[in-house]
Amino acid sequence: FFNTGGVEKALDHTGAELAGAVNDVFERLETAGRDAEAYGRALSHASGELSNGQSPEAMQKLVDGLVAATHAMEARTKDLEADLQRSSQNVTELKAKLDDVRKESLTDVLTGIANRKAFDLEMERAIELSRSEGTSMCMFMCDIDHFKKFNDTFGHQTGDQVLRLVGSCLAENVKGRDTAARYGGEEFAVILPNTALMDAIRLADQIRTSVEARKLVKKSTGDVLGSITISIGVAQLAFHEDKAAFISRADACLYGAKRAGRNRVISELDAEAHVDAA
Ligand code: GH3
Ligand code: MG
Ligand code: MG
Repeated sequence: FFNTGGVEKALDHTGAELAGAVNDVFERLETAGRDAEAYGRALSHASGELSNGQSPEAMQKLVDGLVAATHAMEARTKDLEADLQRSSQNVTELKAKLDDVRKESLTDVLTGIANRKAFDLEMERAIELSRSEGTSMCMFMCDIDHFKKFNDTFGHQTGDQVLRLVGSCLAENVKGRDTAARYGGEEFAVILPNTALMDAIRLADQIRTSVEARKLVKKSTGDVLGSITISIGVAQLAFHEDKAAFISRADACLYGAKRAGRNRVISELDAEAHVDAA
């Protein structure tokens, strides 16, 4: 379900272009350095000749030579300026392109929200922030209920439409410093820095009801396919807990929500989260 090959190729390509542009600038500057050296040599040669006490004709020749060398240097400096201007524009464009590719590499193609890679990066950042500032942070895992049956009944294309619907509900409800991501096939995760457990549970339930409220319509026929539901497991980062342990506790709550009948939010405060699956 992940397509990162294209992004990596684009990244390699843009990186190579950027390196090429920087190399051009260096080569251009080297040439300019050699030009300046040659001009310097012409000047010191002239000053040597001047001190030798020359005839008026020889003086005239010397001055003509200096004027010509100065004009040539002026022209080369103008060329250099224009070249550097072009290079700087080129580098600015490539930097913007690199930025786009970077954004693309962190976005899920199907739903347009953050992908797994972005989730991992954001999770590490949020945990660090929570530790350094001593603030509470939460996360939740969402999973579409009976999605396999949905896929089997209506086909994968409609399945993908469901994924986009859930993605858009998440994007609508998760804003600012919070991150909503597609974690895996039909699983989504939300990271909530600086958030208390009760507030995380409230947001999770708001998302659950907003998904349930959407009516899924088959695009090709206009048929109403009914509504879909999601189950959510909410966890709060515990003292000294690492990323993997934190996620697996949210996962345990999610499975608690599935066992308890689906279309619900279960947190570590609920008894359902602690009942062993066996
Ligand atoms: P539960 O309520 O217990 O979660 O039931 P479920 O059927 O949703 O759970 P299960 O994990 O058995 O099935 C998940 C299915 O999701 C398997 C696969 O067919 C489907 N799926 C996963 N990723 C994608 C995707 O990217 N596109 C589509 N169309 N289907 C996907
Ligand atoms: Mg699943
Ligand atoms: Mg499922």
